[in-house]
Parts: sequence; C-alpha cells; structure tokens
Amino acid sequence: MNMSAASERLVVIGGDAAGMSAASQARRLKGPDALEIVAFERGHFTSYSACGIPYWVGGDVEERDELIARTPEEHRARGIDLRMRTEVTEIDVAGQRVRARDVDSGAESWTSYDKLVIATGARPIRPEMPGADAPGVHGVQTLDDGQALIDTLARTRGRRAVVVGAGYIGVEMAEALINRGYEVTVVNRGSEPMSTLDADMGRLVHEAMEGLGITMVNDAAVTKVLTGEDGRVRAVATEDAEYPADVVVLGIGVRPETSLAKAAGLPVGRHDGLLTDLALRVRGHENIWAGGDCVEVLDLVSGQERHIALGTHANKHGQVIGANVGGGYATFPGVVGTAVSKVCDLEIARTGLREKDARRAGLQYEAVTIESTSRAGYYPGASLMTVKMLAERRTGRLLGVQIVGREGAGKRVDIAAVALTAGMTVEQMTALDLGYAPPFSPVWDPVLVAARKAASKLRAA
Ligand SMILES: Cc1cc2nc3c(=O)[nH]c(=O)nc-3n(C[C@H](O)[C@H](O)[C@H](O)COP(=O)(O)OP(=O)(O)OC[C@H]3O[C@@H](n4cnc5c(N)ncnc54)[C@H](O)[C@@H]3O)c2cc1C
Repeated sequence: MNMSAASERLVVIGGDAAGMSAASQARRLKGPDALEIVAFERGHFTSYSACGIPYWVGGDVEERDELIARTPEEHRARGIDLRMRTEVTEIDVAGQRVRARDVDSGAESWTSYDKLVIATGARPIRPEMPGADAPGVHGVQTLDDGQALIDTLARTRGRRAVVVGAGYIGVEMAEALINRGYEVTVVNRGSEPMSTLDADMGRLVHEAMEGLGITMVNDAAVTKVLTGEDGRVRAVATEDAEYPADVVVLGIGVRPETSLAKAAGLPVGRHDGLLTDLALRVRGHENIWAGGDCVEVLDLVSGQERHIALGTHANKHGQVIGANVGGGYATFPGVVGTAVSKVCDLEIARTGLREKDARRAGLQYEAVTIESTSRAGYYPGASLMTVKMLAERRTGRLLGVQIVGREGAGKRVDIAAVALTAGMTVEQMTALDLGYAPPFSPVWDPVLVAARKAASKLRAA
C-alpha cells in the first residue's frame, strides 16, 4: 500500500535511457501530488550515453561527464525519488512490491507500487573461459567500465590491444584504440566483421579495417586469455593461434537483463526478452510496463519478435511508457532494424532484413548491389559507397538496405528506413523526391540507383 501523500506510486527499476525517460515523461504528465515516483539504480550514474563510450575512450569526447544527460540530483530536483546504488533483488507481483538492497551497506527493504516499470537493460555476454576476468580485460557496457579501461590504458606501457568481437561495439572500440596509438587486432568468431550485414558487405568493412592498419582475424573463437607472471593479460588464444595483448576489450554482444522478471514469473520470449503489448505493458499484467534493452520488439519487416539492444529504441520506449503511466496513451509499433556505425572514416549502416533474415522469414527476394558516389562525381570530396538492396519478388516491397562508404554514406540509410516503415515498393522508391545538388549527391542518389536496379531485376524476374 502506498503510504505517501500522492494518490499513486510508480516504481522504476533501472536508471538509464528507458527507465529515466519513462520516469521523466510520467512526471511531466502528473505532478507529485498525483504520482510519487521512486526509481532504483544499482550503478553510479543515471541517464548516461553508453553510446558515447568508444568516443570518450578514443579521445573525441574529453570528459566522462559530457556523456551524462541528467544527474541523480537533477532528477531529484524534478520530483523523482531516485535511489542510487540500490539494486532491486525481487519483484513480488502478487503483493505489488519490490525488494531492494543498498549495494554498499547491504541493507534491504520492500517498496510497494501501484505501477511498475522494468528497465533493467541488457548484460554483456562474458565468455566462460580461463583468464576472462584477468586484470587488463575490459568490457565497455557502463561508464564505470569505460573509466576502468581508460585507467588501464593510462597505466599500460605496451601498445598491443586485442578486441574480441567484431559487431558495432567491437569495431568502434578498434577505432578508439587505433586513435590512442595502439596496434589493434580484432578477433571475430564470424566469417566477416559486422554480422548485422551480409558477409559480402562485411567483407568491405574487413578490407577497410585492414587499410586502417587493424589486423582482422575471422572465423576464430577465443578459447582463453593468457596471463603473465604478474597475473595480467599477456595474450588471447584461439584454437589455432595466440595474439599478444597488453589490453583486451570484450565486445561480444548482450542478452536482455531479465533474471528478476523471470524469477517473478513475467513472460519472456525466445530471445529471453520481456514480452509486451504495443503500449509496452508486460503481457498479462495491467500495471507493469517494460522497455529498452530488456524487451523484445516486433520486427515490422519480418513480422517476428527480435531483441535489438539500441539506445534509440530505449529512449522511445521510455517516452511511450511514461505517457501511458502518466495517464495518456502512446504505442510503440515496432522497428525496421536500422543501425549506423563507423570505423574511422568508414560509415556502416543497415536497415531491414539481410539475406539470411529474408530466407528465415520464408520470403522470396532479389538482391542487388551498386556502387555510386556521395556527391556528384566531379565535385571535390566525392567518395565511393556501396549500397545493397533486397526486395520481395512477388510484391516488389523493399526488404532491406545495407550501405558501406565514406562521408555521407551512413545516414543515407534513413531514406530506406522511412521507405520500409511506409511499406514502399522499390519501384515507388525510384520516384522519391530527394534533394539534389552536386555537393550532396549525384543526380540519382545512390539509394535511388539501387532501387532502380532492384526494380529492373524484379521486372526481369
Ligand atoms: C559501447 C556502447 C556503444 C553503444 N552505441 C550505441 C549507438 O551508437 N546507438 C544506439 O542506439 N545504441 C548504442 N548502444 C546501446 C545503448 O547504450 C543501449 O541500448 C541503451 O543504453 C539501453 O538503455 P536501457 O535503459 O534499456 O538499458 P541500460 O542503459 O543498460 O540501463 C539499465 C540500467 O538498469 C540498471 N539495473 C539493472 N538491473 C537493476 C536492478 N535489479 N536494480 C537496479 N538497477 C538495475 C543498470 O545498472 C543500468 O544502469 C551502445 C551501447 C554500448 C555499451
């Protein structure tokens, strides 16, 4: 039972993107008399940008605090009772209460709720192998992780770094370490870096990374981290080889952080993420919402549930949840799977389905790949970009786009994201009225060149 003066109490678990967006939006809609908001965060920071960690480590962003959008004190000043360094250890769904433990003192207490928001994020996958916890081995999930890595880099005399994993975080960390003057080796289990792309597009990233002086090792699973006499990391071993390392960065993906929710009997899907309705209410639970990296989302192109851990979704989820909790109405329809990243000056973007996603979804498709330029060919600074496009055979519907190129390549994917969301065919895309002037694109934008080629291949088929 809520004993405060407010008529209702909202409890939020998790103090970053999804949780604090939800709390802030709910506070905007309902004042403290109508809604008491208690938020629990087990870490040291709130509302921070993990997305900025590679750029902080790499030196583009100078200060850690530049990555913090809102401090605990700022949240408190806006009427949110934020309890830092306090971990929720149990959700009692029937009793409408959560048990929380002060991380430093160990003291435990129960807090009742009328409405609950679960925004516990994701936890990094840690390889079960000898040496994985040795000094010098770092994850980059939190600001504390980033600081620990920066401290290690400042202390370490050797200049050899191994990055384990070649997803976007691995690739961004490779750039960060190159920028700090390290010799970087990326060890990757897959056949090419950036497995969110098809392998033929990943190959372009591979070639560009090697051009930057990064050693790319594919098809290689790390079996152990070797340590020296001082107990610190000295190398990373795969079945076939050893890669000397003064520092190791792990970037091998994340899983939804749903252990609490599962223990409470809340529904999770095949990716272990919480299942919600379109208003982000946990399925079957009128007064519990969930959002951010701990939930599964509907892929609007394939119609299947996926787990995609991205801040862009977490912030939108928070807004939607906050609106609903605050007495309004909002929905999150789903995603088309858009992501953009870079390694040095190479931009990498994708949206929609890869070939293997399309096959898995049972879709028949045609794929085309084109090369074009970022500006009119004669205009200074024009650089090459490669665009791959997938379209459904019978309907001509756009299914997915991947782009790899230099300046101006990455954010072009947004054209395709909008087209996918609108359910456009590639034929319709060819007539899109995109802006043109020589400094910005060729007369036919590269995305439109790909759409024309896809449309003509579909007609021929
Ligand atoms: C290096 C890096 C780069 C990234 N780059 C990008 C990018 O470029 N673009 C992009 O869109 N996304 C990016 N992301 C992903 C993005 O940061 C996440 O998707 C986003 O932070 C998810 O927000 P969230 O609120 O769901 O979860 P989180 O940010 O993980 O927050 C969850 C919070 O809940 C707390 N918590 C968990 N369990 C409990 C508990 N039981 N009790 C109390 N507190 C708890 C955690 O301490 C954490 O602070 C990046 C992530 C990393 C690590």
